Amino acid sequence: MIVFRLGKWTSSSQVFFVYERIYINGMWTPFCKIRKRYKSWFGYFHKPQPRSMYIKPLPTLWFENERGEKYIPTIDEIKEVKMPEGYNYLHSQFPTRLSHSILKLINQKDVDSCNHPSAKIRPTDGWVDDVEGRKCLKCGGTQVKKKDEKWSETKWNGNRSDEISRGDSGWSPDLVLAMTNSGDYELPDAILIAANSCSRCMNALAYQYGLDWGFQVGSEEWVKTGTSCQFCEFEVPEHQVQ
Ligand SMILES: [Zn+2]
Ligand SMILES: [Zn+2]
Repeated sequence: MIVFRLGKWTSSSQVFFVYERIYINGMWTPFCKIRKRYKSWFGYFHKPQPRSMYIKPLPTLWFENERGEKYIPTIDEIKEVKMPEGYNYLHSQFPTRLSHSILKLINQKDVDSCNHPSAKIRPTDGWVDDVEGRKCLKCGGTQVKKKDEKWSETKWNGNRSDEISRGDSGWSPDLVLAMTNSGDYELPDAILIAANSCSRCMNALAYQYGLDWGFQVGSEEWVKTGTSCQFCEFEVPEHQVQ
């Protein structure tokens, strides 16, 4: 048997997997990732049979310890905010949240015409050892230099952007599914609309798409719900505008 090894990945505690190819009985196996837990090569010579696949739903929140072992808390444990002992990583993933980011675009013209007052200049971090950077808060321009060089008086970089805000908003899966199934919207459009709706619009959509919650546009509840968003701002009765 010839073993042709391309690589081996290890963490501090164990082998993740080895990536290798084996020559046996006159043939090569395809390159395969072999986890340490496999005791033999036997499985790699089986011709895979077509079959259906069922993947168990994944957790949205779990703890992990240094050895990569998972601890999935129960709903009650989540409510009690209990940390299991020995687990110092918390993973969370959010399938029904829309992530929205706002970037401030820096304009090279503004940077070039700025006088970069020294009171507005701040060091930036995250650089490798002998490099340093700074930023002018007035124009948003940045500079980078080697530690033993002098700062340039004129060369400021303005072709960049700063993330000034990032936010998440949730969407209701039953509403998005109903909107998509109706044929009115593609899935991504339904998600964007549901996640950007105020409470009043979300309820109105739920009613319109036949869910067992929500209320009709123009109904008493609709008027009472004092929320407003880009979809209903022109419909809000005047006395409710704040
Ligand atoms: Zn400046
Ligand atoms: Zn609205």
